[in-house]
Amino acid sequence: MPETTIETTTTASPAVGDRTTARSRSAALVRPVRTVAILGAVGALVAAIALPAFASASGPADAGPVTAERLAADNAQSIVVASEATQAPTTREQFIATTPDEIEKRKAEEAAAARAAAAAATVSSSSRPSIAGLALVAPGSGAVRYPVTSFTPGEGPGSGRGHEGWDMIAPEGTPIYAAAAGTVTASAESIGGYGVSIMIMSNLNGTMVETRYGHMVYGSRMVEVGDQVAAGQLIGLVGNTGNSYGSHLHFEVRIGGSVLDPEPWLAANAG
Ligand SMILES: [Zn+2]
Repeated sequence: MPETTIETTTTASPAVGDRTTARSRSAALVRPVRTVAILGAVGALVAAIALPAFASASGPADAGPVTAERLAADNAQSIVVASEATQAPTTREQFIATTPDEIEKRKAEEAAAARAAAAAATVSSSSRPSIAGLALVAPGSGAVRYPVTSFTPGEGPGSGRGHEGWDMIAPEGTPIYAAAAGTVTASAESIGGYGVSIMIMSNLNGTMVETRYGHMVYGSRMVEVGDQVAAGQLIGLVGNTGNSYGSHLHFEVRIGGSVLDPEPWLAANAG
């Protein structure tokens, strides 16, 4: 292959139109047909080898993890293109993962990212705050995730003033993730003292667990009633709406209508 390339280059240079000598011109005239044939063969080889490599290098498989920037780029195209873009990494990851558990975990993470991207692309909100740079899926791999990954613990339930959640204090715009996979049962810009809020019903090993997320930023809800969410899926941003004294997530956990203390529940279940 390299030898062929060298010979072709030598005889081909006059034909390309470069400055040339009489000797090389005569050499080219002696073997014009062969030169063209070699050029054609090499050209076909280069095309056959180069095209798949180029397609792979520029394809979605190298696009990296799903981020808001990628989401924005995908939004410029269609949802079909977005789903293809999230499909390719799944195949690639299957070769990297070494155990069936890891493969399943990778698949679940890719599925969650794809679902979050699709949800973000379909929820219409012209005034939605920017989510550029935010991870669409929370870290971790468990069925239960912390809804905010960086926060200062605030007041919990049972304070005697009817407070039924745990206040997770974080700056406005901090991403809020679904604590568990489930169905969105409420999603609105104003639900009483909750302000902008979302409620999700999850089936965790046969136990129906409801999680509630309050005081979110106006326009930041990324899911609507009836949507299926994955554990750790980005659903909105920490804010200060409703009956709130400062930017924080009011997070509630209920089983069978009874209020649980989210702090020990998360400590015991999140991963
Ligand atoms: Zn609260």
